[in-house]
Amino acid sequence: MALSEFDLIRRYFSSFQQGSAVVTGIGDDCAELSLSPGHTLCTSIDTMVEGVHFPKTPDVSGLGWRVLAAAVSDLGACGARPVGFCLALTLPQADETWLAAFSKGLAEASRFFAIPLVGGDTTRGPLCLSVQVFGEVPAGKALLRSGARPGDDIWVTGTLGDARAALDCLENTAFSEAEQVFMAQYYCAEPPLEFSAGLLGVASAAIDLSDGLAADLGHVLQASGASAELEVDALPLSAALQATYSREVAEAYALTGGDDYQLCFTASAARRETIYALAAEHNIRCSRVGAVASGAGLNLVREGAPIDLTHYNNMGYLHFQ
Ligand code: ADP
Ligand code: MG
Repeated sequence: MALSEFDLIRRYFSSFQQGSAVVTGIGDDCAELSLSPGHTLCTSIDTMVEGVHFPKTPDVSGLGWRVLAAAVSDLGACGARPVGFCLALTLPQADETWLAAFSKGLAEASRFFAIPLVGGDTTRGPLCLSVQVFGEVPAGKALLRSGARPGDDIWVTGTLGDARAALDCLENTAFSEAEQVFMAQYYCAEPPLEFSAGLLGVASAAIDLSDGLAADLGHVLQASGASAELEVDALPLSAALQATYSREVAEAYALTGGDDYQLCFTASAARRETIYALAAEHNIRCSRVGAVASGAGLNLVREGAPIDLTHYNNMGYLHFQ
């Protein structure tokens, strides 16, 4: 690389805002982070490979936001508060235009989610981005996938399916108003971290929506040993999605499209008022989409009448895992 590895790190990654938990940040062999008393460490890592997880001609600054948003979304799923993150960057060359755009988007997300960059690794190779996040949660209080109980409500935040819709226009050079909404959801997802932290002691189980509601809720049900009834009419769909696609496709995108990075959680019906108040406090759209039951499996219903999952599968380009 024309630009040395150390110059590259100094120029593009060493001036991120730091946080009070960072004892030692970038520049030494390890980052040293302090946890609040009585808290445990939550950590998760996400990797994105060019051509697999993002297009070859991406919005590079958006990519910087997206790789961090996808990783902090896992912290939100556990109700953890951000402490810091590491970035492993594999680059074909030290392209300064690319680095400036990428680090700008990453720095914006770092500020927005209040999570400082505390270290990383920089290597040469096919473009690959990997982010490991660290967060903290009061010991024994983390939201897990396994806590859903029959009778619990099922909730989701935000709107679903917009990031899936972005895949239909990702390579466009001009975007309609609706497509701009989809692209913003794809590149600039805002997993509701503070709202999620407020769900500790309120929600019974949670998962972030990275693979689509049907698959991700399926993980909760499996881990909890429960079944669920999901009301498709209650799915939160953006105006842009409804204006662009048939009701059927919009529902299918919401159920099976990935990359929403919203939260799905369950909670006792006695918690409804608390949840609405918390959602209002954090300005988060929060929709009740179904209920947990005993048994196993995910059942879709419309106004109480069952719908066959294969109905959506048969649309060809969609599949449930
Ligand atoms: P070491 O050889 O001890 O693993 P490196 O020489 O790889 O350390 O990195 C030097 C410092 O720069 C370390 O603090 C490391 O965490 C940090 N660093 C390396 N690459 C990045 C990056 N892409 N983003 C942020 N920090 C980085
Ligand atoms: Mg070292």
